[in-house]
Amino acid sequence: MQRREHRYKVLVIGDLGVGKTSIIKRYVHQHFSANYRATIGVDFALKVLNLDQDTIRLQLWDIAGQERFGNMTRVYYRDALGAFVVFDVARSCTFEAVRKWKEDLDDKVSASGGKRVAAVLLANKCDQDRDDTFAKNYGRMEQFCREHGFINWFETSAKENINIDEAVTCLLRHIMASDTELLQTDGMNISPKLDSGRSPPCSACLRP
Ligand code: GDP
Repeated sequence: MQRREHRYKVLVIGDLGVGKTSIIKRYVHQHFSANYRATIGVDFALKVLNLDQDTIRLQLWDIAGQERFGNMTRVYYRDALGAFVVFDVARSCTFEAVRKWKEDLDDKVSASGGKRVAAVLLANKCDQDRDDTFAKNYGRMEQFCREHGFINWFETSAKENINIDEAVTCLLRHIMASDTELLQTDGMNISPKLDSGRSPPCSACLRP
């Protein structure tokens, strides 16, 4: 069977210092440093990977240095098919900000002409102790995801390389499933946007 090639744009958003750049560097370059210099402006990294029968050219967009709501331009959101919303398990304010990031994402994507993007929540720095707010919510995270429109959530550590590959695979499989569904429906040859409300099954991220 001929390999299909997809180009997926995925955003990485969340408060300053939660580990967005570190997650991208870990995933793309298999590298972690405690001292990344903050880049100002939108930055993106490309990774080409094979998943099942397909080749994916994955663009991970970092918002480096612009972590304020309303600050991001439409170019950043345009054509995005997926997003990671990241918080730091040791800083409750970053968890409390997740809802706003998700709402901002949905608003901006629809304002830039797109439909809702597939979003996965990342509880990063899981190598550190959870702070009280996140610890209290820990048992209700699946419900939190359902309420706020996340496909799933993962505890990750860019430092210790925990669950980053799994989270990316989960998001990509979800996007691919929607993609295939639309390809079959429309007979199109390019990666279309997700239709709002579509929720195809994601076998990679089914939890025990
Ligand atoms: P960003 O502002 O969200 O892009 O965050 P950075 O990637 O710049 O990370 C902020 C700080 O958190 C840096 O000092 C990183 O080394 C540190 N950091 C990032 N990820 C982790 C992690 O998984 N565990 C720990 N302990 N520190 C991390």
